[in-house]
Amino acid sequence: MTTTTEFDAIVIGAGFAGMYQLICLRDRLGLKTRVLEAGDGVGGTWYWNRYPGARCDSESHSYQYYFSRELVQEWEWSERYPQQPEILRYLNHVADRFDLRRDIEFNTRVTAARYDAAANRWHVTTAAGEEMSCTWLITAIGCLSSANVPNIPGLADFKGDWYHTGQWPHEGVDFTGKRVGQIGTGSTGIQAVPVIAETAAELTVFQRTANYSVPAHNAPLSPEFKRYVKEHADDIRDTTRRTPNGHPFEIAQRSVWDVSAEEREALYEKAWEKGGLQFRATFQDLLVDKAANDTAAAFLKGKIRSIVKDPATAAALADIDHPYAAKRPPIDSFYFEAFNRPNVHLVDLRSKPIERITANGVKTSGAEYPLDIIVFATGFDAMTGPFMRMDIAGRDGLKLKDAWAAGPRTYLGLQVAGFPNLFTVTGPGSPSVLCNMPVCIEQHVEWITDCIAHLRANNIATIETSDEEAEKWVAHVNDAANATLLPMAGHSWYLGANVPGKPRVFMPYAGGMLRYREICNHVAARNYAGFKFGT
Ligand code: NAP
Repeated sequence: MTTTTEFDAIVIGAGFAGMYQLICLRDRLGLKTRVLEAGDGVGGTWYWNRYPGARCDSESHSYQYYFSRELVQEWEWSERYPQQPEILRYLNHVADRFDLRRDIEFNTRVTAARYDAAANRWHVTTAAGEEMSCTWLITAIGCLSSANVPNIPGLADFKGDWYHTGQWPHEGVDFTGKRVGQIGTGSTGIQAVPVIAETAAELTVFQRTANYSVPAHNAPLSPEFKRYVKEHADDIRDTTRRTPNGHPFEIAQRSVWDVSAEEREALYEKAWEKGGLQFRATFQDLLVDKAANDTAAAFLKGKIRSIVKDPATAAALADIDHPYAAKRPPIDSFYFEAFNRPNVHLVDLRSKPIERITANGVKTSGAEYPLDIIVFATGFDAMTGPFMRMDIAGRDGLKLKDAWAAGPRTYLGLQVAGFPNLFTVTGPGSPSVLCNMPVCIEQHVEWITDCIAHLRANNIATIETSDEEAEKWVAHVNDAANATLLPMAGHSWYLGANVPGKPRVFMPYAGGMLRYREICNHVAARNYAGFKFGT
């Protein structure tokens, strides 16, 4: 690592996005590039989220880079849904294979970035007080990287240990013989429960909002499937680029109303047996027609009641208040089954909410639950949180915090008005979390790379969008969300509703990855329409 502090480009974050951005800028464009990473290793989400049961909900053969044919051919996944350690191994392999570490500065948290218009440079400050500058600043900070530990009174009094799933200790946590309380039943909590239950003496699950879940049916990959993936890599890549959510399966073209009730039940049963996120592709109208969605919801609630033996627990788990997949639908490995174990208990917080944490455990309005360990599976200050913990100032000292006071406003999720030469990989207003992440990351990184190449080739010093373009894009993002049932889950993190005081704005672009890709390509083909160039 050199001691230079002046770069062509600085990339913040060394996860899937930052690593590929480094490859593109350094190796394809020849830019002097530095990646700044808070952790002591690569991996982003997969570096931090080491909680028990952490596993990807995208199928392994689609949850990888496709930019390098050689990389695709040489890497082999072991399971249908890879576990966190395997994904981290993959990302470390990529870092080694493309010799990335020499340009990544680890243990380096960016605290501030300031645009200097006179010099046309971004000045970046780190927690250790280092100063660096660059022409192009690219955030690759992830959408779900700012842990949300709820402000429940009394946490400081708790005598036991507590952990947030997104900041899990690298040495692991031993639950043997412990009374464990888990708060949160989102995708993370649903993965963690069955694994924690295996060793904990008692596991008490505090559920505020009941959730759907479809079995993952995870299994080792057969040699035939591994061969199929290698032989059909281009087809798989093309499918992920064509489908609205970037997954390697097509959404059925039929409507719920095209088939009889018996056929529908049989199709849901087949999808349940297949498992995974693919369940929502059973019919094309599940996310746009509430009555259609109700049929899937009824099927899934019936499954919960059939799995969970205690009727009161089953009723609380199946008492779900939002349409299926209006919140990010979890998939699981024996989540509902775990409630049949004698050491797993459900506490329904809707009737009796948490009042406080005491020295001994969690106190709801109904009872006090003595605990040795509390696991917060309480999610993230999603999408904007990672930006807001940095002090980013653009033209004329405009703070990003102020520009986004009423919610994030971007053009294409790629740029913010008043922040020249700053690009935001999978930023708010892009499909990001509604899509299989590596697919949207590759698209964003390649678009940004092509854009910077164009600017350099044409001696263009700055690229910047305008308030008007951001306004139009935000309106389009809202229209896209409102054409679906997604806004009906009023408490979802898509809307920022999980963080008290956060503006309620639907943040990801729900118009689908294919449509989004076409819009971005169209913008580039029209000489970057909606952006202003400066010399
Ligand atoms: P989440 O979906 O936001 O779930 C957080 C859970 O904590 C919810 O059940 C929430 O209840 C509860 N909660 C939050 N604050 C609470 C409080 N003060 N009191 C009681 N309960 C509280 O977070 P997540 O499960 O970490 O998942 C976030 C996202 O990460 C997922 O949607 C997914 O996109 C991604 N993820 C992906 C994978 C994967 O692919 N393998 C795995 C895990 C996560 P409410 O619903 O009532 O707010």
